[in-house]
Amino acid sequence: MPKDLPSTGVRSKTYFSFVLTDSLEGYPTQGHAMSLQVHLDGKLVPKDEAKISVYDHGLLYGDGVFEGIRVYGGKVFLLAEHIERLYESAKAIRLQIPVDPATMTRQVEETVAANRIGDGYVRLVITRGAGSLGLDIRRTSHPQVIIIADTITMYPQEMYENGMPLVTASTIRNHPGALSPRIKSLNYLNNIMAKIEGTDAGTVEALMLNHKGEVAECTGDNIFLVKRGVLKTPPTDAGILEGITRNAVMRLARESGITVEEVSTTRHDVYVADEVFLTGTAAEIIAVTSVDGRVIGSGKPGPMTKQLGQKFKELARRGGF
Ligand code: PMP
Repeated sequence: MPKDLPSTGVRSKTYFSFVLTDSLEGYPTQGHAMSLQVHLDGKLVPKDEAKISVYDHGLLYGDGVFEGIRVYGGKVFLLAEHIERLYESAKAIRLQIPVDPATMTRQVEETVAANRIGDGYVRLVITRGAGSLGLDIRRTSHPQVIIIADTITMYPQEMYENGMPLVTASTIRNHPGALSPRIKSLNYLNNIMAKIEGTDAGTVEALMLNHKGEVAECTGDNIFLVKRGVLKTPPTDAGILEGITRNAVMRLARESGITVEEVSTTRHDVYVADEVFLTGTAAEIIAVTSVDGRVIGSGKPGPMTKQLGQKFKELARRGGF
């Protein structure tokens, strides 16, 4: 999809990208051959010098929060929404972010500009900071603010054209009574365990159910289905991350006169849907054409998926609502 998005051409000829094998909430990312500037603890530093303590509780315990944000045409997409979710996640885990939202917004924009990102991705990470080897947050000091701006590759282009298969993972989404899935925390093991099941089954995403056996979301994407012209998605109380792309797609659909319902969803509902698609900052909108061996609808990306995909592309081109 992004190949049709405007490119500012700001990436100079001296830059080139290469595919790394690491994973960005589930799929390969790209990196620069030249040194990136990373915003760390209030300053831009070369990537190789961007280091934090091995005593940081972000590393020791996955204690921290993060955001993944898109950049289109040099403009950070839906930044206010991401900043709001970041501060809400931090509040939920009682992490005091050392700068205010306005400063954080400015620092994200500075990092994108410093790295001359045209179409790319920002990873914003707040760790609890270095502490003792115990869990006690009172022994930590100084949360670390890390802002990385880089380029990105999504799922294979062929899947954007023809759709992707999904399997349901046996690993369920975090029980909301243990850790709310609405917190975008640095602890992604729950999703990683499900992702491994998908990889083992030969898929690039996996469907996750909640503790009640209802459909929740995928390991790094939200799920939508279309049935008889109505767009449906699991509600936030199904134990999902309240995706920013999800909210944008629901708004675009309503603006186009489509009925949107946030309803509890079973696997059966997914199997018999006319269309299924996923949404996520990195993935954008991608059709799902089979789930657990059941072909969805016509087995090709459906008309509403394509219509909303087009509307989303236009929204990205405009830079937001
Ligand atoms: N669910 C999970 C578990 C995710 O990690 C993501 C990616 N952030 C999403 C859904 C999609 O959310 P968003 O549209 O805000 O990227």
